[in-house]
Amino acid sequence: MTGRFANIIVDISHEKVDRPFQYRIPDDLKTQIAVGMAVMIPFGMGNKLIKGYVMEITDKAEYDENKLKYIDSIVKGGISAKNDSIQLAGWIKNNYGSTMISALKTVLPVKQKRKQIVKKTVICKVDSQTALQKAEVFDQKHQTAKARLMRALSKQSALPQLLVTGKLNITVQTIHALEKEELIEVQAEDIYRNALPENIEKGWQKNQKKYLSVSQNHIVDSIIKDFREGIRRTYLIHGVTGSGKTEVYMELIDHVIAEGKQAIMLIPEIALTYQTLMRFYQRFGDRVSVMNSRLSAGERSDQYERAAKGEIDIMIGPRSALFTPFERLGMVIIDEEHEGSYKSENMPKYHAREVAGALCTIKNAALVLGSATPSLESYYKAKKGEITLFELKERIAGGELAKVYVEDLRDELRRGNRSIFSRRLHTLIEDRLKKHEQTMLFINRRGYAGFVSCRACGYVMMCPHCDVSLSEHTSKYQNTSRLVCHYCGYETQSVTNCPVCGSKYILGFRAGTQQIEELLHKEFPSARVLRMDADTTKNKDSYERILSQFANEEADILVGTQMIVKGHDFAKVTLVGILAADMSLHAGDYRAGERTFQLLTQAAGRAGRSSLSGEVVIQTYQPEHYTIIHAAKQDYEGFYNAEMAYRDLMMYPPAAHMMAVLVLSDKEAIGSEHAKMLVNRAKDRIQKLNRTETMVIGPTEASIGKINDVYRYIFYVKNRDYQVLVALKDDLEHFINKMQWNTDSVQFDFDPINNY
Ligand code: ADP
Ligand code: ZN
Ligand code: ZN
Repeated sequence: MTGRFANIIVDISHEKVDRPFQYRIPDDLKTQIAVGMAVMIPFGMGNKLIKGYVMEITDKAEYDENKLKYIDSIVKGGISAKNDSIQLAGWIKNNYGSTMISALKTVLPVKQKRKQIVKKTVICKVDSQTALQKAEVFDQKHQTAKARLMRALSKQSALPQLLVTGKLNITVQTIHALEKEELIEVQAEDIYRNALPENIEKGWQKNQKKYLSVSQNHIVDSIIKDFREGIRRTYLIHGVTGSGKTEVYMELIDHVIAEGKQAIMLIPEIALTYQTLMRFYQRFGDRVSVMNSRLSAGERSDQYERAAKGEIDIMIGPRSALFTPFERLGMVIIDEEHEGSYKSENMPKYHAREVAGALCTIKNAALVLGSATPSLESYYKAKKGEITLFELKERIAGGELAKVYVEDLRDELRRGNRSIFSRRLHTLIEDRLKKHEQTMLFINRRGYAGFVSCRACGYVMMCPHCDVSLSEHTSKYQNTSRLVCHYCGYETQSVTNCPVCGSKYILGFRAGTQQIEELLHKEFPSARVLRMDADTTKNKDSYERILSQFANEEADILVGTQMIVKGHDFAKVTLVGILAADMSLHAGDYRAGERTFQLLTQAAGRAGRSSLSGEVVIQTYQPEHYTIIHAAKQDYEGFYNAEMAYRDLMMYPPAAHMMAVLVLSDKEAIGSEHAKMLVNRAKDRIQKLNRTETMVIGPTEASIGKINDVYRYIFYVKNRDYQVLVALKDDLEHFINKMQWNTDSVQFDFDPINNY
């Protein structure tokens, strides 16, 4: 496209400059400049050079063209945004309330120069007999370094140079000298940084295609039929772990590639295991690449570059892999689509599932979601017919689902058992120790959970307005405690007796991994115990070390937080204990039930993955809670119906939409005042728009009231129409601008997943 003017978004994230600025294109750049390019432009009064992105090239001047400034230059080696990326950024800006530049930065991979990595190998040019003779000659001449290298090479004819200069302590000069004598040569090889671990490359053997089962085939055929006919939809595959979803994904990708298209597959970082990668690599060889958080910025931009050049067809990775710049994207697959990690915690707080939907529309690609426990959002859409639903009901390898017991901890107390282990769990652990099988014990959080419940009747103190559990806040100074709702700020005094049964055993819930470890040592002195939580995994590789120790059967019992529940298969684990399901059930937010159901399902999936059959013990004070009942039966549909009824009644997503507004200030009074002003403004707008069904909740202090000396206030707005919330956000933003508050001091989060 040619034109004389460029409309440019500047690289400053501020509401006030969140619009295109027009510049003149100098003659010498006219043939080079294109939409999406990064350019340097003089900006502001001082004409300081800053970066910007070209959004549009046009012949129409918006002002007197003589007053327009000239673009200074094109940023060398800068990544330029494709038209699709700009559209996608626009979508993110509109739906999550960010500035265009921060949306652009989200979708654009950062260009990073990498250092060339060259692997050098020292190779012996003579046979081992001759090498040994030479070594002896060097010894006689007291040239010990040369002797040492030749002797080493007589045993092994090729050695990495790093080993020679390192372990053998031989200088580069000595190596050069031997090269001159034509005894050795040094081969250099440029390693193109591939993100795959080295041993995966070595293990590559093409094609491990399986014959799909009837139900697997049905899914593949239906989706591919649509694909060939040019129909692009969203599909949801609901199937338990081991039901063959990954095999279906691979078959789909195969077809997509055969049609000349490319695919992105998202998996949660924690599930990016060696086994998964191996399977993809075995099937697709080096047409696959992988992205993960351990890659350096350079490695990452290498992967993006290979994708942009079309050297690969498949990108596997967490959230950010979605922004792989594929020219011919045909399909996006999101495995474990219910995972909370698909939601970004940084501004803009986008959800990868939703952004994937927008991306697929822009690129005309199909979207495939998969999960054993679909998010309520996706299942709700499936029920409404917006998503095509497929089910995989059985495990491929046969293998019974584990037997699940629900143990009533109130009953244990009545019978005088005050231990954290129910009698059944105790017996089963003993049994496994005898049989030399392994046990995993799981506690939702480390330490202290916040909610208050009655150990005698199971009653939990709830907010009367929000129907979520109240959290206990204890003041160290006055030795008093109060119960607070994190949504609406409702407060009440702590109680000493249960309002339902009068028992005095109504307490905050305290149980941590460390305590459990100690108890295990006491009750099962012979057991070898490993513990995995945030404390024991502070070191970078301790996570993998603990898992491999457990896999090697160096321990009988693994105790841990949610970290241990996901994605790992241990053949010898036949018992899983969830010590207090209540801890996740009463996390104080509307998603607690959904998360608990997912967790219990996953935990149950950990037991009995091999030929040994498994048992699961769920301990709880509320065995009558619908989440526990349906989880024990592995009845997703039943859970969905009950949970949707609750969401609908309380207007929680996906029955409605919810916008969290977080107000930050380094001064307590200002934060609180601003939050109040915004709430009043919101209420005022709603009244004017006659949107009576909109609810404003709060403001209140956030559950973490202060982080790094910044005070945090929160309020929520609920409405059944997402666009009403977007419009309200736009209005609040104008208000913030008018008041000249710092724009970073207010954050918006749509359909929040995390607690504030
Ligand atoms: P999921 O992704 O649902 O957990 P997988 O695709 O990993 O399920 O399948 C579970 C196991 O069954 C894997 O070991 C896989 O190789 C195997 N498998 C899947 N489909 C088939 C098939 N059609 N024939 C034989 N084995 C299969
Ligand atoms: Zn009670
Ligand atoms: Zn409340």
